[in-house]
Amino acid sequence: MRNLLIFLLVLGGIWWVRRALKRVQRGGGRAGRDPRLNEPERVLACAHCGVHVPESEGVWDDSGFYCCEGHRRLGNARRGD
Ligand SMILES: [Zn+2]
Repeated sequence: MRNLLIFLLVLGGIWWVRRALKRVQRGGGRAGRDPRLNEPERVLACAHCGVHVPESEGVWDDSGFYCCEGHRRLGNARRGD
């Protein structure tokens, strides 16, 4: 019975450590600093489909901003090729 208790304690410890590590990974790096220093990211409309996506997730091209690489290749719908 005592072995089972120890086993459960170890399991709980592993779970706790993994949870703590995940939190560090998520909050670490740039986001770990003062949140007031993190400026809100610009959200731009895709020139092809019009969907709004954060600038860091999209793709820039000579003709404009796109939500993904596929739409960048398809081009700007408003140009009317
Ligand atoms: Zn798009």
